[in-house]
Amino acid sequence: MEKIRYFDHAATTATKEDVLKEMLPYFNIEYGNPSSMYSIGRKTRKAVEESRKRVALAIGVDLKEIYFTSCGSESDNLAIKGVAYANRNRGNHIITTKIEHPAVLHTCEHLEKEGFRVTYLNVDADGLISLEELQNAITSDTILISVMFANNEIGTIQPIGEIGSIAKKHNIYFHTDAVQAVGNVRINVEELNIDLLSMSAHKFYGPKGMGALYVKTGVNFEKIQDGGHQERNMRAGTENVAGIVGLGKAIELAYKNFDEYNEKLTSLRDYYISQVEEKIPNIKLNGHKTRRLPGNANISFIGVDGEALLLNLDLKGICASSGSACTSGSLDPSHVLVAIGLSSEIAQGSLRVTFGDENTKEDVEYLVQSLVEIVEKLRK
Ligand SMILES: *Cc1c(COP(=O)(O)O)cnc(C)c1O
Repeated sequence: MEKIRYFDHAATTATKEDVLKEMLPYFNIEYGNPSSMYSIGRKTRKAVEESRKRVALAIGVDLKEIYFTSCGSESDNLAIKGVAYANRNRGNHIITTKIEHPAVLHTCEHLEKEGFRVTYLNVDADGLISLEELQNAITSDTILISVMFANNEIGTIQPIGEIGSIAKKHNIYFHTDAVQAVGNVRINVEELNIDLLSMSAHKFYGPKGMGALYVKTGVNFEKIQDGGHQERNMRAGTENVAGIVGLGKAIELAYKNFDEYNEKLTSLRDYYISQVEEKIPNIKLNGHKTRRLPGNANISFIGVDGEALLLNLDLKGICASSGSACTSGSLDPSHVLVAIGLSSEIAQGSLRVTFGDENTKEDVEYLVQSLVEIVEKLRK
């Protein structure tokens, strides 16, 4: 078998060596419970709080505004349910979009069953919401707007600052699922008027099973999990100290090397897109041309079956994705590709390639050459 070439960094990334190195002692050497009063507990408490500082610094907030969770999905649940339940007396209306990750979409559907009303905003052909449609959706019952920072399938980056201003003007809380954006986009939470922000360590070279939620001081939200008093009483459960340390180290590294990383991914992505456009006829780039994540390229190969494409790429040692990892395995076209108006036939032939740190130009050339051969074969 060929060596593995990994182009699925939106699904997950490998934990960096430097991150792993900082995490390891917290499994068996520094193993005290951070809630314990003796010295080894105080040591892990300190590690947790140092990590919180790193996260806060990376997005320009106060450390008291960071809550550690078990994943991006939990952060989304805690943000949306936490705000919805705590503000029920003010109103029962939530605004989100049709292209959210299932962690947001299914949370909103859950709340609908409990009597909340949810508006799912449309997106245009590039995957952008309309600010006018957002304004028009707001009522006196609206308590929360939840719009993802950047889409995991097509990479489109939403006008977050504008959405934040609208939310602020109407005194509505604004949550953003920034799981794809953290590490890939510079985020100044205050400038963008974000009240709650979700992130997940394994999308920026940290460990899986580790997330964080930023909640601005003063936001009225409540816990959704009962138990001990961890995370200032908002998220029960003994802290995943190693994971917390890993998330903190990973986010610090991501923003320390930001410019270099961003340029590298952008150039790999643009090279890939231009090569595919040059060498393969009948394709369509999905998502916004410029307002997109640096490492994301989602291309439909018209007349090609996406599943067959992935299987053939796998035989060449190439890992990529059709739509999102969460919907693959099912034959339904991705809800995101449907929302941007693709016919199900064109959506079926879409391939999401997401570049990352270990990719090289040579990897891209191998990928493009493989696609040229496979697409031609499958189109026969
Ligand atoms: C991966 C992802 C999530 C879920 O994060 P987990 O840590 O895997 O639960 C949520 N939202 C977006 C946009 C994602 O890409």
